[in-house]
Amino acid sequence: MNKIPLSRKLIQFGRHFSEAGFHCYLVGGAVRNILAGLPPSDYDFTTDATPAEVMKLFRKVIPTGIQHGTVTVLFQGESFEVTTFRLEEGYSDSRRPDAVHYTRNINEDLARRDFTINAIAASLEDGSLVDPNGGREDIKKELIRCIGVPEERFNEDGLRILRLFRFQAKLGFRIDEASLAAAEATRENLKKISAERIRDELVKTLLSPAPAETFRLMLKTGVLEMFLPELAACSGVDQNQYHKWDVFEHSIRCMDAMPPDSIELRAAALLHDIGKPQVKQFREGEATFYNHEQVSGRIAEKILKRLKFSNREIEKTAHLITQHMFNYTPDWGAKAVRRFIARVGIENLPDLYKLRLADRVSHKDEAGDDRDLKELAARIEEILERGDALSIRDLDINGNDLMEAGIPRGKILGILLEQLLEAVMQDPDQNRKERLLAIAMEIYRQRVYPGD
Ligand code: ATP
Ligand code: MG
Repeated sequence: MNKIPLSRKLIQFGRHFSEAGFHCYLVGGAVRNILAGLPPSDYDFTTDATPAEVMKLFRKVIPTGIQHGTVTVLFQGESFEVTTFRLEEGYSDSRRPDAVHYTRNINEDLARRDFTINAIAASLEDGSLVDPNGGREDIKKELIRCIGVPEERFNEDGLRILRLFRFQAKLGFRIDEASLAAAEATRENLKKISAERIRDELVKTLLSPAPAETFRLMLKTGVLEMFLPELAACSGVDQNQYHKWDVFEHSIRCMDAMPPDSIELRAAALLHDIGKPQVKQFREGEATFYNHEQVSGRIAEKILKRLKFSNREIEKTAHLITQHMFNYTPDWGAKAVRRFIARVGIENLPDLYKLRLADRVSHKDEAGDDRDLKELAARIEEILERGDALSIRDLDINGNDLMEAGIPRGKILGILLEQLLEAVMQDPDQNRKERLLAIAMEIYRQRVYPGD
C-alpha cells in the first residue's frame, strides 16, 4: 500500500499547511494502526513548519511542548499534536536529548523515532506514504524492531525499552531478536527514567487485551525487576495444593482474566498477592499465606505511590486488594452480609466480584465457578432495595438528637452511634428514632454509672 485514505477533516487540516508552502504528515500510532487494520488512538502530525509558523496558521494553538517543538492545534473540535521535523543529538543521560534541532527533511525526523512501525508518515496532501525504514514490511510481518542499532537507541532513551514491550502487548506483534537482546543488555537505563513516564507506559501495557505473555518476557529479560522488583520476586514462590502456578504466574494470569475496564481493576489483579513472598510460612508441610491481603494492599500502595499514580487510583486498588479474601458461604446471616457491604462500600462491590472471579479462574486450569458470588450479589441487592442501614448516616437518629436528650458533646456521641449501628445491623427493625434513643440512653447510663 502506497497511500492511505484520509478523512475530509484531515485534508482540510493539511490545506492550512500547503497553502502557506509547508508540508504536514500524519505520523506514528495513527498511520501504524490504520495499516494494521486497527482503530487509531490519537493523531500525531509532523511538519517542516516551525512551532512559531504553525501558531500563525491556526486560530487556536496551545504551546504544549514547545521546547520539543510540539504545539496542540484545536481544529474542528479535535486537538491535534503537531511537532516540527527534528533531529535529536547527544543523549548523555539516557533520558532526554541534550538539544533539539529542527530539520526540513522528513527522513531525518523519521530516523530519530523508536521503532520502524512507528516511523511511517502519510502526507496530508494525498495520503501517500513515506517509509524509509521498512515499517510497512514489519507491520506485515507483525514485527517490532528498533530503527538503527538497538543498543544505541535504548541508550539514548531508556523508556524505549518499556515502549517495546507496550507495543507487543497492545498489538500482539513479535519483538525482533536483536531488539529484545538489546533491551535485556541495556535494562539498567530504565532506572534513570522518571516515574511518570514509566507509569504511562505501564498503564498502556496493563490495559492491553492480554498482557501476561509480555510480563513473562519482561521477567525473563530482567526488565521487570527494574521497575517492579516486588512482582519479579514472586517468581519461583510456590504455593499450595489449591494452586497450580507460582505467585508470579498466578498474578499475571489473574490480570489477563480480569476485564480491562479500568487501571484499578488490572492493577489490583496484578498486585493482589504481591505480599505472599513476605508472609509465606509452612504449617504441617503446607504453605500458608496468613494475612497476605493486608500486606499485599500495603505493598501495592507503596508501589503505586512510587510510580506516581493518583491518590484515587492508589486507594481504590489497595482497597480491592485488602478486601479480596472474603469467603462467602450461604450460611452468612443478614448481619454478616450488611457488614460486608459496609466494609467494601456499595460502589466497589461489582469490582470486587470481578477480582474474586479472576483470582479463582487463575488458581488452576479450570473455569471459575461464580454461583456463590451471584448468590451473594442477589442477597446484597435485596438488602439495598430494602434500604437497610449500613452506616451511621443511615440511622434514624443523629448526634444532635442524642445531645438534646442530655448526652454531652464529645467522644461518647460517636461511640453511641457506632453501637446503635451495630444494633440496627443485627435487627433493621430497630431503626426508629424512639427505639434508638431508648437503646442509647440505656448504654449511656451503664457506661456513666456502671454500678447503677
Ligand atoms: P499510541 O497509539 O499509543 O498513541 P504512538 O505510537 O502514537 O502510540 P506516542 O507515545 O503517541 O505513541 O508517540 C507518537 C510517536 O512519536 C511514536 O509513534 C514514535 O514515532 C514517536 N515517539 C514517541 N516516543 C518516543 C521515544 N521515546 N523515542 C522515539 N520516538 C518516540
Ligand atoms: Mg500517539
